Amino acid sequence: MQFKDVVGQDELKAHLIQEVNQGKISHAQMFLGNAGYGGLPLAMAFLQYLFCENKQAKDSCGECNSCRKVNEMQHPDIHFSFPVVQAINKKSDFFLPDWRAQFASQPYFNLNQWTNRIDDKGRTPIISTEESQEIIRKLSFKSFEGGYKVMLIWMAEEMNLQCSNKLLKILEEPPAKTLFILIADSQEKLLQTILSRTQLLKVPRIHLDDLSKYLQIKYQQDGSTATSIASQTEGNLIEAIEMLNSNLEKNINRDLFIQLMRVCYKKDVNPMLDWAEEISGIGKERQKTFLKYALHMFRQSLLRNYTENQLTKTSAEEEAFLKNFSKFITGNNIHGFMENFNDAVYHIDRNANPKILFTELCFKVMRFIHFA
Ligand SMILES: [Zn+2]
Repeated sequence: MQFKDVVGQDELKAHLIQEVNQGKISHAQMFLGNAGYGGLPLAMAFLQYLFCENKQAKDSCGECNSCRKVNEMQHPDIHFSFPVVQAINKKSDFFLPDWRAQFASQPYFNLNQWTNRIDDKGRTPIISTEESQEIIRKLSFKSFEGGYKVMLIWMAEEMNLQCSNKLLKILEEPPAKTLFILIADSQEKLLQTILSRTQLLKVPRIHLDDLSKYLQIKYQQDGSTATSIASQTEGNLIEAIEMLNSNLEKNINRDLFIQLMRVCYKKDVNPMLDWAEEISGIGKERQKTFLKYALHMFRQSLLRNYTENQLTKTSAEEEAFLKNFSKFITGNNIHGFMENFNDAVYHIDRNANPKILFTELCFKVMRFIHFA
């Protein structure tokens, strides 16, 4: 990871570059700030710069042997410690392949996303006493390549009390040429004894302009959407991407819904079958999200008819469609729509054949829509 790939954070980048170039590197640094602001990517760019064999004025070269190894999280002198699910394994090393894969695919991630990756049961991960012994053991060896030895501890606030206590001495007086990089989300959960032994680097929210520019370039968003998402998520890149994905899904559902209502209204059998074919291929979870979205739209239509648009919760695009459509949802057919779409969710959950299910649903919609 190079500094140029870290979104925003220009002040911190300048500070870290200066630290390396002036040779004034503190032996224990704490990157403190929400994961969505980029503590881990910043720390990795810093380490890559530190180890780079061909440093440029403002970034690592990105090409030398060291840069490659740091980037792949394969450098023998950089060790990683992070919360893991104790019931699976007590040591971080066991999860290193997952850790590297996560960083390679998306270096901005939070504890929740990490937990989802390593455990489908969603159990709470911690950094345990066993891991603290492992940390001390790893740092007792000389560095492989004669330079710094680094211990990066991600989500340091998840160290349990025994683990934290075991590390106090080595944090205070680390072996020569040892660097601790601690990364934490929230100060409240951190022990004062740990905090007082580190140099604190506060990672602030990403400037809105920087985040907006990133969303425009990386996710092809138009300027006003990107700025609106950046500001709604208050400079948090992880939340911005989540919002983007959920907006995208909403748009897909909206288009599927409009299409279904149109073909059923026109009683166009072939397009109805095409529609059923299309939705059969999108997978169970997305089918369920669509059905729930449709239920929401039926309720909104009815509400619109009875409250003259006072209580509806719809976007401008949905509103444009509902303006003409809502009159087709009335007391005569709402029950049929709700019952059949709810049933469909139930049957999808129990692995019903989606093609049969959605084809039947199309014919029911056709009947109900002409029974307003
Ligand atoms: Zn390099």
